[in-house]
Amino acid sequence: MNEISRPNDLDAFWMPYSDNRYFKSHPRMLARAEGMTYWTADGKEVLDGTSGLWCCNAGHGRKEITEAIQKQAAVMDFAPTFQLGHPIAFEAAARVAEVTPEGLDRVFFTNSGSESADTALKIALAYHRARGESQRVRLIGRERGYHGVGFGGMSVGGIGGNRKQFGAMLPYVDHLPHTHIPTMNAFSRGQPKYGVELAGRLEDLVALHGADTIAAVMVEPMAGSTGVLVPPKDYLQRLRQICDKYGILLIFDEVITGFGRLGTNFGSERLGVTPDILTMAKGLTNAAVPMGGVAVRNGIYDAIVGGAPDGIELFHGYTYSGHPLAAAAAIATLELHRAEDLPGRAKALEPYFEEAAHALRDLPNVIDIRNIGLVAGIEMAPRPGRPTARATDVFRKCFDDGLLIRTTGDIIALSPPLIAEKSHVDRMFGTLSDAIKAAA
Ligand code: PMP
Repeated sequence: MNEISRPNDLDAFWMPYSDNRYFKSHPRMLARAEGMTYWTADGKEVLDGTSGLWCCNAGHGRKEITEAIQKQAAVMDFAPTFQLGHPIAFEAAARVAEVTPEGLDRVFFTNSGSESADTALKIALAYHRARGESQRVRLIGRERGYHGVGFGGMSVGGIGGNRKQFGAMLPYVDHLPHTHIPTMNAFSRGQPKYGVELAGRLEDLVALHGADTIAAVMVEPMAGSTGVLVPPKDYLQRLRQICDKYGILLIFDEVITGFGRLGTNFGSERLGVTPDILTMAKGLTNAAVPMGGVAVRNGIYDAIVGGAPDGIELFHGYTYSGHPLAAAAAIATLELHRAEDLPGRAKALEPYFEEAAHALRDLPNVIDIRNIGLVAGIEMAPRPGRPTARATDVFRKCFDDGLLIRTTGDIIALSPPLIAEKSHVDRMFGTLSDAIKAAA
């Protein structure tokens, strides 16, 4: 290719979930990261208000993690886990099982949250089949649920925009209503008061389809990506009761709520409900190497593995399940969480973070604020005729003023690394407040 026809350097990378045309005419590049901070390619400091993408919970550039990855790369770069093992994958699973809810001690490794969602759904189907209930094929998700972009997670997920380009979804999928009731729960702190009855809609689906056709219900304990939707009080408890009554598996997608985000190892602990299957990713390796996982109730593993004839029990897996570099990163990350009590730090900072978030209440166009753990959602009134434009303006202004936030629709989400100090919280909400005023 001669010089003249060579494409611009930005052309080749098709960026995920992005307005590629806008970005390529207004690139914002991150080049370095440490602790709470990113630096742009031209050296400007940007405070990380979103832990990357809800994932760098221990802050950036943690030496303990990067050194563990380097060391492992020098010892053994890769080894398969199909019919073979390597010790570090087993150690990583055992360390994960130390922090998962009691009784969920069997861990299947994936490479992402999307793969974890699809793996969890497949395990649920295989479990019922192993127990002679192969008619249980129906999967139930929830409106505004996000479970990644595989066909399983996308189908069970409840985001119209993510589905409409791709034609048919999985069959036999239904959705519960989402739990966002702005008229009753606006500006709630922690779990909102109203909405437990929405869990009762599961009973309606049972009546409609028959309990013995339903395999599993999958929800995020707190829906992050669709705008910080905190479950109403007793909502998850009610879902748990209904699932128990009808033999339906309850799956929690803890890709965001895992690893300290809500002030406990997993969100299920904070919210007081234990699922049968729990998915994770992101914070598992502090995002230094991609890795996800699915923890299952021991009886689910026993039913699939113990009940099978000789040979492979679960026809599912990824070349990189338990990848040595990811396993090394996970072990080092979990050690950091323990040594620095990152969930405890999040819990200690939560009241201050909550006050700072709710102090934005009277700013122009702010119609709701909600929070739990170190997550806050600030909802803006849509700009007439141009929904999402207001939040996008706030995002751009924040970035240019040195703060990384995340927006989804007209909702601004903050989820800083769990190592944040009060001074970071002050800076975050100060910059955000200025940007919201500027966007008015
Ligand atoms: N589940 C949830 C709850 C998520 O928030 C995400 C990502 N934001 C995913 C699944 C998908 O994870 P990934 O992008 O790693 O596939």
